[in-house]
Amino acid sequence: IKSYDVIIVGAGSMGMSAGYYLARAGVRTLLIDAFDPPHREGSHHGEPRLIRHAYSGHPVYTDMAIRAHQLWNEVEDLTETHLLVQSGVLNITDPDLHSLSERIVEAAKHGVQAEKLDAAEMCRRWPGLDIPEHFEAMYEPAAGYLRSEACIHAYRALALSHGAELLTHTAVTGITARKGSVIIHTRNGKYHGSSAILTAGAWFSTLAPFVSLPVRAVRKVVGWFETSTPDFQTGRFPGFTLNTQEGGYYGFPNIGGAGLKIGRHDTGLEWKPGNPVLPFGSLQEDEGELRSVLEKYMPGAAGRLTKGAVCKYELSPDEDFIIDRHPQYPNILVAGGFSGHGFKFSSVVGEICSQLVMDKQPQHDIRPFALSRFEQQASPEPSFA
Ligand code: FAD
Repeated sequence: IKSYDVIIVGAGSMGMSAGYYLARAGVRTLLIDAFDPPHREGSHHGEPRLIRHAYSGHPVYTDMAIRAHQLWNEVEDLTETHLLVQSGVLNITDPDLHSLSERIVEAAKHGVQAEKLDAAEMCRRWPGLDIPEHFEAMYEPAAGYLRSEACIHAYRALALSHGAELLTHTAVTGITARKGSVIIHTRNGKYHGSSAILTAGAWFSTLAPFVSLPVRAVRKVVGWFETSTPDFQTGRFPGFTLNTQEGGYYGFPNIGGAGLKIGRHDTGLEWKPGNPVLPFGSLQEDEGELRSVLEKYMPGAAGRLTKGAVCKYELSPDEDFIIDRHPQYPNILVAGGFSGHGFKFSSVVGEICSQLVMDKQPQHDIRPFALSRFEQQASPEPSFA
């Protein structure tokens, strides 16, 4: 049985980056993936992905986003690829739902430039918008989007160049552990590690009962729509989030004529590994919900659907990440529940996982991501008399 210092289960967004930081530190690392990353079965395909820094919630997100951005720039330099496009990101919201003040205050504390705009100013700067008068927005000029599949290719090349090994098309079927030792079972044999990092994304439940994260996988759809004016082209139009009474949406400019990409954050059918995923267009709302929001707020981008795609989120109960040690085995890390906003952080999450597994203190406070928060919140089982 082959032996490694660290085995990474799931070489997707988080796992591939962790593999690089470990291999670079001279750690003997094996990455195992059920597919051949990047691929279309997880959460990372159908690029691009937004990267923004001004987060609400735990302040650690903003710190991590700033570090993630630096690391993306470093990977761009190392691989001579263009991964991060600084298009700016406009966060548009109905103030009856959500206030931007907390995010703007938090951004300023971290030195992140974030400008508050009213509807008239938004429509003046981006004439493609048709925004109700009472809406507001926060514009982050240094934010933008990442070419997610190219990012995974880049980390893969870097990890392999530093000596990491990668097994593709190898599903992990079981894990057994003792203190300081772990055996990873696959269809093609088993492997021994001193430590492991489990980064299985929407497929986390395939690692039960060894680990059972409180996450739920959901099917998500995104669509690309033809635009009728140059106002939506990359270079002129930013990435965006749109928080309305109709739902929470996000999207990207028309990149290279592909069409304006838009997706909805807050809905989605539950999915379980092993079950088929309904292709785009199986449900009327797949295209319908996206089109109706475009017709209302960006009418010039509600043209013909050029492409649709299906992807998966894995949602934690509070939509905050889970990055922690296994409750019984401190040499095994779990990193999951990235809840539809993890990609931008995958560079820094890989760095953090590599530090934790090497027993180094990570430079970010990851206590908000502890598994124990769910125990504290757990409500008693209902009893039916
Ligand atoms: P993945 O990248 O899916 O990696 C998990 C890997 O584990 C996969 O390669 C899988 O094959 C492997 N695996 C699983 N189980 C096993 C097993 N048993 N054996 C072997 N291998 C296994 N984030 C942002 O920051 N900005 C955005 O704009 C954004 N938009 C999104 C839009 C959509 C439509 C979707 C679906 C997600 C979006 N996200 C965004 C979220 C982001 O993409 C995810 O949070 C991130 O990709 C999760 O990374 P991961 O490593 O957990 O999962």
